[in-house]
Amino acid sequence: MVINRSGPIADRFWSIAHPGMPLFLLDGDKPAIFDGGLACLANVYIDHIRSVLGERTLSFCFLTHSHFDHIGSVFWLKKAFPRMDVCANSRLATILERPRAVEVIKMLSKSAEDMVRGEVKIDGNLPGFEPFGIDRPVSDGDRIGIGDGLSVEVYATPGHTRDCMSYYIPERKILIASEALGIPVEDGYIYTDFLIGYDVYIESVKKLGTLDVDVLCFGHSFVYTGEDAKNYVPRVLACAEDFYNMTARFLEEEDGDLEAVKQRVKALEYDSRPGAKQPEPAYLLNLEARILAVKQKMEAG
Ligand SMILES: [Zn+2]
Repeated sequence: MVINRSGPIADRFWSIAHPGMPLFLLDGDKPAIFDGGLACLANVYIDHIRSVLGERTLSFCFLTHSHFDHIGSVFWLKKAFPRMDVCANSRLATILERPRAVEVIKMLSKSAEDMVRGEVKIDGNLPGFEPFGIDRPVSDGDRIGIGDGLSVEVYATPGHTRDCMSYYIPERKILIASEALGIPVEDGYIYTDFLIGYDVYIESVKKLGTLDVDVLCFGHSFVYTGEDAKNYVPRVLACAEDFYNMTARFLEEEDGDLEAVKQRVKALEYDSRPGAKQPEPAYLLNLEARILAVKQKMEAG
C-alpha cells in the first residue's frame, strides 16, 4: 500500500503531523521518534506526539541526516521531552558546531515557513532553527534496545549526504530510509538525490535492499507497506541509472556546459512533472550536485 497521510501506519507506529515533512513515532516502553522535521512545525509535531503518548515522554530521537528539513525541530523536541536522547552520526554534531552552517540552516528553515503556512493551519510567530547537541553518536552496525523486545539497527547510508543514516527495526520490519532511497512522487518517478557521489549512493541503496521490509518510510510524502515496500529497491536503482545515462548523454552533447545540462534535465525531470514537488531553488541546488556527481563518475571512467 502507498500511504500519503499522517496518523497510524502500523501497530503502535505513527506518521506524525505532516505527510510532506513527517516524523515517525514508534510507541512502546521507550518511545522513539525518527527524523527531526522542520523548525516551524515543531509545535505541531509536539502536539501530535503528546496526543499519542499522553503523560509519557520520548526516550529517543534518531536523526537521518543534517539537512534543515530533517533536524529543524530537534531543539524544541528536546525542550518538550528533556529525557529524550538525540542519536545521530557524529558528523552531524561537527556540522552544528560551524556558525556558517547554522546560519544557512536558519535561513533555509525560515524560507520554508510560507510554504508550510499555506498547507497547515499555524499562526503567529513560528519556532526557528536552534542548534542542539547529540547525546548519543551512532555508527554503522550499532544495535540499540528500545524496550518491549524491540531494537533499532543503524545503517550508515552515505550518498545523499555524508552523514546519512538509516534505521531498521528488525522485529517489526520497519525501515526509516529517509532520502537514502530517493523521493518517490505521485506518478511513480523517484528523485534520486545522490548529492555526494553516484557509486556510494548506489552501494547504500543495495545495502538497504538486503533487508526484509514491511513498512518503508521516506523523508517526504509517502510510506510504502507490504508488496510496495518489498518491490521498491529495484525501482530506485532503475531510476538512478536512467538519470545517470540521461545526464551523461546531455553532458556529452552540451560539451560539459553545466548550465545547459541543468536546463535540459530540469525541463524533463521537474518542469513537465505534475503534482507536489520540492521548491525550485532547492531542486536546482540539488540538481547541480547530482550533475557534478555524474560528471565525476564519467571522468573516473
Ligand atoms: Zn536531504
